[in-house]
Amino acid sequence: MNHLTPGLGHYTNLDELRPAVEQCHQCRLRDTAHGVVFGEGNPAARIVFIGEGPGAEEDRLLRPFVGRAGRLLDQMLAAMGLDRERNAYILNIVKCRPPGNRTPAEDERSACLPNLDAQLRILAPAIVVLLGSTAVQTLVDPAARITKVRGQWVQQGARWMMPTYHPAALLRNPGWKRDAWDDLKRIIDKYRELVDPAHYSPHYP
Ligand code: SF4
Repeated sequence: MNHLTPGLGHYTNLDELRPAVEQCHQCRLRDTAHGVVFGEGNPAARIVFIGEGPGAEEDRLLRPFVGRAGRLLDQMLAAMGLDRERNAYILNIVKCRPPGNRTPAEDERSACLPNLDAQLRILAPAIVVLLGSTAVQTLVDPAARITKVRGQWVQQGARWMMPTYHPAALLRNPGWKRDAWDDLKRIIDKYRELVDPAHYSPHYP
């Protein structure tokens, strides 16, 4: 199996990057997945949401966050005044479904990082929302626990990152939704500060 880092640094737009990522076979996840889930949204979005990896529905349709957790994410976005077609972009740490929805292994996350790096370099978001432990452990701190770090901003260069609960965790633990909404309100505040002072959120005017 080839674990060489793909040369993705020269791509300057997502339409050109997409076929390169969709041909990726840099880790074992590609052997069992139906295909590569690149991500979707408005390429001009200033806010990006990053989950863990595709589930069964996502693998079948090759689209991110389209199962139960995806529907909850869409509701969360709508409450914030965002949606994936208009002003948000949605990605995952690994682009191929881990068998049985297991957590992606460290070497699988590392193998996929050049894909994510290339996407983020092109998107150049002002705000990155890290959905769950895998996203925060991959991009911020391998030892981080989402229950401890959620709701706290992490600044990396010009990029502001906020860890919060993954929608799948909120489906398992509905009692966490209140804390999650507190996090989302802080993200709306930052979006108004950095991107659009007039941004309208139906549940946080
Ligand atoms: S998970 Fe990422 S690194 Fe692994 S094969 Fe799929 S696209 Fe490539």
